[in-house]
Amino acid sequence: MSIIIENLTHVYNANSPFESTALNNINITIEKGEFIGLIGHTGSGKSTLTQHLNGLLKPTSGKIIINGFDITKKDVSLKEIRRKVGLVFQYPEHQLFEETVYKDVAFGPKNLGLNDSEIENRVKEAIELVGLSYNEIKERSPFELSGGQKRRVAIAGVIAMKPEILILDEPTAGLDPKARDEVLNQIKELHKKYKMTIILVSHSMEDIARLVDRIIVMHKGNIALTGKPSEVFKNVELLKSIGLLVPQITYLMKKLRAMGMSVREEVFTVEDAKNEILKMIGR
Ligand code: ADP
Ligand code: MG
Repeated sequence: MSIIIENLTHVYNANSPFESTALNNINITIEKGEFIGLIGHTGSGKSTLTQHLNGLLKPTSGKIIINGFDITKKDVSLKEIRRKVGLVFQYPEHQLFEETVYKDVAFGPKNLGLNDSEIENRVKEAIELVGLSYNEIKERSPFELSGGQKRRVAIAGVIAMKPEILILDEPTAGLDPKARDEVLNQIKELHKKYKMTIILVSHSMEDIARLVDRIIVMHKGNIALTGKPSEVFKNVELLKSIGLLVPQITYLMKKLRAMGMSVREEVFTVEDAKNEILKMIGR
């Protein structure tokens, strides 16, 4: 299920004093099964772009074709799009509202008109996919869970729709390090197990470097750069000029190299850095 974005422009508050162009003629294709990292300074257009992919926002001009199907046509049913494209908003736990975890996760599948046993299967599967115990948690109130658990229940609600494309807008924002790792590991698992197409919006270059196949860098409503993490993070100066930093470990390796140590400069993950340093000290 490929996503083709063609000449996509989005203007908020057109023809008013508050008019602002959030997306400016974007063109990009995302292949089925790709794990994409979407990065960019605040206000660069990441959330506006992701909201077009599930039909929540309509383009001012341009098209989005998902698996050969133009989702931006007037008469397209949103239900049909959302069956294919799951969008996890920023702070998705703010949208939990049912009295039990079960009911919350079941909400989407119910709206798809599935029968009860299919709904139950999906709820169970989704809850376990995000690393929670179905039996322990299903009857609990979402409001009494920890921050990380709430976030995962909210993600389970989207996964229970069995989307082929999963978009997560800053899914770890505001979580403590342990919860962050839990959420990211589950997302990685989903990609590995189900070959889902994943678009992850994140501020953490460390997470992006470690997880994704390809990065899309946005800047002021345009795509500034796209490529594998190793290609994108080479552009230290360009990234800096648009307010982005490469992973911290990369700066450390550059420093070591500048001090005359024989390590590769282009190292983007802690794991790689460890190997480089061990190699240098001959172990
Ligand atoms: P990001 O997610 O990268 O931070 P956004 O897509 O939220 O960026 O915002 C892109 C631009 O669109 C910004 O200039 C922002 O102020 C503007 N914008 C976002 N949402 C709205 C809205 N609902 N109404 C008006 N302008 C908006
Ligand atoms: Mg945003």
